This record gives sequence, C-alpha cells and structure tokens, in this order.
Amino acid sequence: MSELARTTEPEPIDPAVEAALAASREERAEALLEFARIPSVSTEPEHAADMVAAAEWVAARLSGVGASGVEVIRDTPLHPLVYGRIHEAPGAPTVLVYCHFDVQPADPLELWETAPFEPFLRDGRFVGRGVADDKGQLVMHLAAIGALRAAGRSPAVNLTFVFEGEEEFGSESLSAWIPANRERLAADLAVISDTTYFEGNVPAITVGLRGIMYAQIDVELSPVDLHSGQYGGSVENPANALARIITALKGPDGRVRIPGFYDDVVPLSEGDRARIGELPFDEEAFREETGVTALVGEAGWTVLESKTARPTLDVNGIWGGFTGDGAKTIIPAHAHAKVSTRLVADQDPQRVFDALAAYVAQVAPPGVTVSTTYIHGGEASLTPIDHPATQAAARAIRAVEGVDPVYIREGGSIPITAAFDHVLGLPVVLLGFGQPNCNAHAPNEWLDEANFERGTRVIVRLWDELAGLRAAANE
Ligand SMILES: [Zn+2]
Repeated sequence: MSELARTTEPEPIDPAVEAALAASREERAEALLEFARIPSVSTEPEHAADMVAAAEWVAARLSGVGASGVEVIRDTPLHPLVYGRIHEAPGAPTVLVYCHFDVQPADPLELWETAPFEPFLRDGRFVGRGVADDKGQLVMHLAAIGALRAAGRSPAVNLTFVFEGEEEFGSESLSAWIPANRERLAADLAVISDTTYFEGNVPAITVGLRGIMYAQIDVELSPVDLHSGQYGGSVENPANALARIITALKGPDGRVRIPGFYDDVVPLSEGDRARIGELPFDEEAFREETGVTALVGEAGWTVLESKTARPTLDVNGIWGGFTGDGAKTIIPAHAHAKVSTRLVADQDPQRVFDALAAYVAQVAPPGVTVSTTYIHGGEASLTPIDHPATQAAARAIRAVEGVDPVYIREGGSIPITAAFDHVLGLPVVLLGFGQPNCNAHAPNEWLDEANFERGTRVIVRLWDELAGLRAAANE
C-alpha cells in the first residue's frame, strides 16, 4: 500500500485516546502485573481471602476510572462479585461487560519456569497465571475507559460492568445473582472478553462456545479392600467394573454412546462447515504443538469441528485401589472417575446428566453399587454472525488490526454466556484478545503485550461503533 493511500485511511481510534494510551503504556502493564500477583484461585478454599483481595482490586480500579455504584457483592454462595456502571451516554445503547478475576490452580508447579504468581513482562510478553485468562482482558477494559477519561471523553455507550470470581468453578454465585438483579443488568447486549484470537494470532470473534456437564461416577463393593486370592473371581471388582462403564460411554470412533446424547444438537449447516473448513488451521502444526503422537476426532468430522463445534465426553480423572510402589494383592473396595462432557447448542446439561446417570446404571454390572453425581454444568451458546453487534465488533477489529476477523467456535466453556443469553435475553459478543496457545490453565501462561495493546484499542473503537449502531437505528 502506498503512503498516500495509508494517509487517507481513518484513524483506528480517536487520536486523543491513542495519545493517552501511548502515554500510559508502562502504567497499564504494571496494573496487569499487580493484578496477576493476587493468587485468586477460585477452586481452592485456602485462597478465599485472595478472592476478596482480587475483587477489591477490581472495584478500586473501576472506581478509579469513574464508574458509579461500584460494589463488591459479598452475599453470594461463595466468592464476591464486582458491579459498577458508567451511564453517561443518554440514548445510546447499554452494554453489559463481563470478565472474570479468578484463575485456574497453578499446579503442576514444577513445570513453571518462574513462580506462577510472580508475573513479569519480558521481551514483549507477559508471563504468569491469569495474564491471558482473564486478568489481562479485564485490565484492557479498565484501560480503555481510563484512556477515554484521560482524553476528556466518556464512553459513547452506557457500560454496566459485572466481574465474577467463579468462572473457573461453575459461576454459581453469578448464576444465582443474575435472575435476582435483572434491572441492574438491563442492557442491549453483552460483551464478554474471555476468549482468544484464532491459531496464529488471527483476529477472531467467537460465535459459539461449548457448554459443560461435569459428573462423578462412584463404584462401591465393600467397606474395605478384599484379599484378591481369597475373593478374586467370586466378587465383582469395582475398578474392572468402572473400566467397563467408561468403555461403554464413548466408542473408538469418537461417538458418545449415551442414548439421546445428540438429540438436541443444533446441526451444523453447510455454510457453517465451509466457514470452519476455510479457517487457517494446520492440523499437523496443532498436533506438534500439542505434543501428541496422533490426533483423533469424531468419525465424519474434521479435527477442528470435533474440538469446537461437536460435543464430546472425557474422563478427567480415575482412581481407586492400590497405586503405590510394589504389589498389593487386593480387590479395591471402591473406584471412582470424574467425567465431563463438552456440549453444543442446544444440549441441556441437566438432561445430559440424566441420560448419563441412566446409562451408567444400565451398563453397570451386578455385584457393585454404582452412583453418578452431578458436579456442575453450563449451557453452550451460539450468536449469529450477521447480528449488528457482532458486525460492530468486526468493524472495530478491522479498524485496529487492519484485517477482517474470522468467526470461530471455541471448544471451551464460559458458563455465564448462556445466562446472559437465556436469562437476560441479551445478544452476546465474545470478543477476546488472548492467543490460542497462551497456556491458559497450564504452566507458563502468557499474553503478548501487542495483543494487550491492540485489544485495548479494539475495545475503545467498539464503544464508538456500538454508539453509531443506535444512532443509525434511530434515524
Ligand atoms: Zn477465562
């Protein structure tokens, strides 16, 4: 492109806001590092005080950028929520903004090159637990407002912020809070920043997320382990029985065998499959990066479809009996497995659990007591690509990144997305800025500062794009 052509292009964002961002670069990076030093691991009870500290950190920063009604909501079943709003654009749309301030546990610690909660920025990359998922993205939202303020502006849309501390743990507190606080959450759309760009750091908007249903299967034989010489062959072995049950759940073709499992799956259209097929996804590079010897998938579906747009089932853990060194000749008293399914629209977690429990009871051998317990669940979500809010986000990306985004589905789950969609009736734009291989949930989690910087600018631009939406609708 010639210099002449370049100068005629509109600025990606308001130059005054750009100047404010340029001036605050170090300060914003330091804010993320400070935030990531708080070990807000939601699933570990010993970090309860850190969850409160993280909530208070967010609330203070939200107040610092001029939000009103900022509140750390403590009367929840578990961890606090943070709420606040900036409603300074009469007549403009209201956007509900969501991120989470809890993180995954850091273990296995020995695989981290540095301490997980001593984050740093080196060679253009933040490293530390939560820098990508999701503290970096939360800080981008705060920074976008801070830069608007520094430029003497208010956001061009009305913003309502709700940040939670249980995303990695089923979102129970926020799920309970939403139906009771519909008025405080009233909006025209929701923007969730907890996703990533596509493989190779290609700017992306996520239009589909998988849901989840997590359960435990317990197989009990007797109060104590039995002598395998005295009893072997005459009683059912819980570990053997559990292995048979697990084998029944999913075939070698990748198909889940639970009757009714696929009943409510919204079929992929030819267009959906074509769009997925066009994504720049390199199976061999993905295989290499993952470090596995071969990729698998559901029969009849590509690897990318299998891992993002199709439901599946996995054993997350399995235990029972003797696991020490040497030999101990016992029949275990009991055996257990954690099992989860990743769901797609419109599968209902409770219905899937009921189907799983019924099927486990059906295939369980006699002679042992088998029970299945629901641990947590969340629905999948799907947002139309042609929705005006999705397209506003696409224009914001195009302005800042200089390319059109790709539209992707993600294999992971953000349980609260379905509540925004189904309970509050809001269209949801999943606009996240992490990198797909950022080691979220794994050791050495990272986020490139370039994504942090550009993501902040996409957010700034998005508020302007969404403001224009209502203006256009009102004309
Ligand atoms: Zn997340």
